[in-house]
Amino acid sequence: MKKISYTFSRQTTDYYFDATWRELDELTTGYSVIFITDENIQRLHSDKLKDRKTIIIPAGEKHKQQNTADQIILELISFEADKSTFIIAVGGGVVTDLAGYVASVYLRGVKFAFVPTTLLAMVDASNGGKNGVDVGQYKNLVGTISQPQFIFYDLSFLDTLPLKEFSNGCAEMIKHGCIRDASIFKLLSAYTPEKLLKDRQVLGGLIEKNVVLKSQIVQEDEFEKGDRALLNFGHTVGHAIENVFNLMHGEAISIGMVVASKLSEKFFDFPSTETEKLIGTLKNYHLPVEIPDNIKDAIHALKMDKKRTNGEIRFVLLKEIGRAKTYQISIIELENIIKTIR
Ligand code: ADP
Ligand code: ZN
Repeated sequence: MKKISYTFSRQTTDYYFDATWRELDELTTGYSVIFITDENIQRLHSDKLKDRKTIIIPAGEKHKQQNTADQIILELISFEADKSTFIIAVGGGVVTDLAGYVASVYLRGVKFAFVPTTLLAMVDASNGGKNGVDVGQYKNLVGTISQPQFIFYDLSFLDTLPLKEFSNGCAEMIKHGCIRDASIFKLLSAYTPEKLLKDRQVLGGLIEKNVVLKSQIVQEDEFEKGDRALLNFGHTVGHAIENVFNLMHGEAISIGMVVASKLSEKFFDFPSTETEKLIGTLKNYHLPVEIPDNIKDAIHALKMDKKRTNGEIRFVLLKEIGRAKTYQISIIELENIIKTIR
């Protein structure tokens, strides 16, 4: 197990790479641990969670809602959870987002940590302190920013992860490559998800690289006044279409990245050959790249986008692969342009 730490405004978070489950207990000595997981992980990894105090939630994004948070809180009360409680979320982004949120508001905050079990949660969702719930179809509309005590990377969880879920996480790594690190993009372009999932040495290194990239951005700008916004590349349109078209998050941001790349051609003279490269890599990972015909139906969802001010949206566009910059576009202008890009 290898430890790296990042200090955020109110909390130092320890990152344990190359970790194995049996090393987890030593990190919470003196606390009363309560695990939160979902029904799939509970079933697939029952050996790990046997004889542990565990709150099990239903799986899936549609349960990332306030009523599930309320259910968790009621179970915490029935476990008599208090300030000596340490919550450990074992799961994908839905579990870590919900658990981080509940742990931040229960008794105005108890200690918590994450064991991400999907690639998406490993490289993105569990890292950065953003947590919360969707409200109806609006993604992550309610939540807090609070950092976990630690994040624990046990790659053995990936043994049971379906390939489709793995590709979903690859979309976020492709995003990281696009905005900050062309070498990540290049490496991913040379792989397929099938090959990457098998090559644990390369995968482990790549996960660490992505975690470090994101942690550095978050550390520089925890409350998103500047560069943290770059992590939203592909996410403005992505979030708008995800629930409307019932897409996986990675699928939605894949299409969102294609749209953003085409907008980059228009506003930043980003070469169309680079857009083609991005599309090729996304296709390698079986991610969708076609902009849906009725995408404009989803654009009204942008009006609730958290990044919107005075009818304008701050888009993240590419100068080149590996370098991104924000650019203000009005919703009206966007509606007009989106009709013309294909
Ligand atoms: P995210 O993609 O945001 O990390 P979820 O928390 O919704 O999202 O996880 C996606 C799906 O994968 C859920 O159905 C969840 O139960 C399942 N899952 C999570 N981790 C694993 C795993 N290690 N093996 C198999 N299925 C998993
Ligand atoms: Zn994302």
